[in-house]
Amino acid sequence: NRVDNPYSGAKVYVNPEWAANAAAEPGGSRVSNQPTGVWLDRIAAINGVNGGMGLRDHLDEALTQKGSGELVVQLVIYNLPGRDCSALASNGELGPTEIDRYKTEYIDPIAAILADPKYAGLRIVTAVEIDSLPNLVTNTGSRPTATPECDVMKANGNYVKGVGYALSELGDVPNVYNYVDAGHHGWIGWDDNFGPSATTFKEAATAEGATVNDVHGFITNTANYGALKEDHFTIDSTVNGTSVRQSKWVDWNRYVDEQSYAQAFRNQLVSVGFNSGIGMLIDTSRNGWGGSARPTGPGATTSVDTFVDGGRYDRRIHLGNWCNQSGAGLGERPKAAPAAGIDAYVWMKPPGESDGSSSEIPNDEGKGFDRMCDPTYTGNARNGNNMSGALPNAPLSGRWFSAQFQQLMQNAYPPL
Ligand code: BGC
Repeated sequence: NRVDNPYSGAKVYVNPEWAANAAAEPGGSRVSNQPTGVWLDRIAAINGVNGGMGLRDHLDEALTQKGSGELVVQLVIYNLPGRDCSALASNGELGPTEIDRYKTEYIDPIAAILADPKYAGLRIVTAVEIDSLPNLVTNTGSRPTATPECDVMKANGNYVKGVGYALSELGDVPNVYNYVDAGHHGWIGWDDNFGPSATTFKEAATAEGATVNDVHGFITNTANYGALKEDHFTIDSTVNGTSVRQSKWVDWNRYVDEQSYAQAFRNQLVSVGFNSGIGMLIDTSRNGWGGSARPTGPGATTSVDTFVDGGRYDRRIHLGNWCNQSGAGLGERPKAAPAAGIDAYVWMKPPGESDGSSSEIPNDEGKGFDRMCDPTYTGNARNGNNMSGALPNAPLSGRWFSAQFQQLMQNAYPPL
């Protein structure tokens, strides 16, 4: 008895803790009433970290916000064993082999709370395991981007098992809507990643007791910066007979933006066996790319590179850059059913929360220092050996980053 699109006709939960951080910033009250994701990013987050709200606190508050209408609560399930195998900034607390702890100390308690009849009237959306499964395709084996850590997670099967278990247990709760993380166009949009990633999602969605019926949809661009829709060129554009696919920026990708990718990947997922009714979510929290650097027309037709670089909204140095990107702005405000196949634009990554620290910071959360968050870093194979484009002086991933929040508001598109 789930509805087709949980966002239709529903309000979405405003996390009071994020709202307080946003409202405390000059100008922050312009957005502090927006809904954002609640990240269960470690076992302790279920009961609340350092006196903060736990899962039941959020759900109780959600019942208050709900009143007599419908309300969606957005939870991020993010604690796989060996988490973040191709990067360091969000390595988690569980080692590569700790699948049993993931099940019994993390997923089981969450599922038990969500199944409390008290919460049966909420529409609970879960974004399941950000940036995990595609690593098994793109960052393993003979790929130049392979890491030993991702090879381990592929060999031991614990990403697939963990996602399968999460989908199965959470999917048993009738008012839970599971959306599996589907990366973003700047990762899965190449031919050698697109089909194999869909196949890997199907494998996970049929592991550990899960079935495709446990999957309501997929979410793209979580915590990434890919533009929603480039207006000044499409993947079919050419310059003097040369395809934009041959530009340095597009580099043979099949997609130039998130919306075209999300719609196409939806079809691919249906073709490998997911239900035809699945819907996509797109995280638009930080992909606005407004402000004075936003192009107002197409680039010069001197070459495909001048054309694409002069016209693209996405101002990153390289599409593979992902940490605290300089110049980014808040994107489309959260909205239900904005386009065909898209259930909602959402702010799953709470804007103003760091992607990772710009220098090493000792911590007890298992979080490492990834040089992709260091503005002086000259890159690696995963970003074509380019500068990282990260803002300086960033705190640990998940911590409030005031300077980033100010820039996101300044460069918001649509403007605030
Ligand atoms: C961090 C999490 C945090 C989340 C949302 C992730 O990058 O690893 O700890 O909750 O971002 O800000």
